[in-house]
Amino acid sequence: MQQTAKIIDGKLLAQNLRAEIASGVAALKASKGVVPGLAVILVGDDPASVSYVTAKEKACAEAGIASREIRLPATARESEILSAIDALNCDRTIHGILVQLPLPCSVSAKAVIDAIAPEKDVDGFTPVNAGKMLIGDDCFLPCTPHGIIKLIEFSGMDLRGKHAVVIGRSNIVGKPLAVLLSRKEVNATVTLCHTGTPDMSLFTRQADVVIVAAGRPGTLSGSMIKPGAVVIDVGVNRLPDPSRPKGFRLVGDADFESCAAVAGAITPVPGGVGPLTITMLLWNTLEAAKRHA
Ligand code: NAP
Repeated sequence: MQQTAKIIDGKLLAQNLRAEIASGVAALKASKGVVPGLAVILVGDDPASVSYVTAKEKACAEAGIASREIRLPATARESEILSAIDALNCDRTIHGILVQLPLPCSVSAKAVIDAIAPEKDVDGFTPVNAGKMLIGDDCFLPCTPHGIIKLIEFSGMDLRGKHAVVIGRSNIVGKPLAVLLSRKEVNATVTLCHTGTPDMSLFTRQADVVIVAAGRPGTLSGSMIKPGAVVIDVGVNRLPDPSRPKGFRLVGDADFESCAAVAGAITPVPGGVGPLTITMLLWNTLEAAKRHA
């Protein structure tokens, strides 16, 4: 199959936005003497979580944002995590708090997220931010959905009047993305598909843009999209691959080869959505620091 789709370069867009953020950080420091601070709470030592946290800290350093890692053992009790959040909520040098998910099964992720002060909720996951986003109030937009909107715009597509199909209805990707896409300033018509959708192709074949966030490789294939459509692949799946030094390779939720032969533009995995998620986290942290400067 021949690849005809343009590759949407998430790394390039992230680089451009991070340069803008770094200028904003420097300007805030020069004008108000404030250095944006992000605290990252990591519970346990899940390798994927450790690598996400490392990437976030590196990105912070490059943008001039101070990051602080609070590392707790996998055996940490919920009360210990809540105490750590309480302390960060009161810490004036910390403007953003992020809890790396998933948390151990013994801990309620909901209770932990709910404990973050909404004005420091740079992931946009607390009920206060989620509710504000739903009604269109000023708030921190969740990083992955916000980054996806930026990527679609970067691909050259004007979303107004377009049909967007979102596959997946999680609270961190699918649902908030569907809300953002249907906001008046974006003005897309949105269809939200999930495991209860009997035949997704009925919808995806009509879509101008398909965003797949199912967490399952092969959820979207070329035969399911219309020629020229934009495909945003959010999925990050590790497939065993003994030929790779780490013993695995990363694939998305879309079958890249068949989709790239039909789509007009497509994001790669890695190098598509991932860099934008981290970038929008930096964006929100700078925003949080500006609000409290
Ligand atoms: P999640 O919480 O597991 O939700 C997956 C959603 O997809 C659910 O709503 C599920 O439907 C739906 N789904 C699963 N299989 C499906 C299928 N075959 N057909 C239709 N719908 C299906 O996952 P998530 O947190 O949203 O993450 C999704 C993927 O994105 C994961 O691979 C994750 O690693 C990745 N991700 C990447 C980034 C990034 O920065 N690149 C950020 C966040 C997430 P039901 O509700 O009916 O079960």
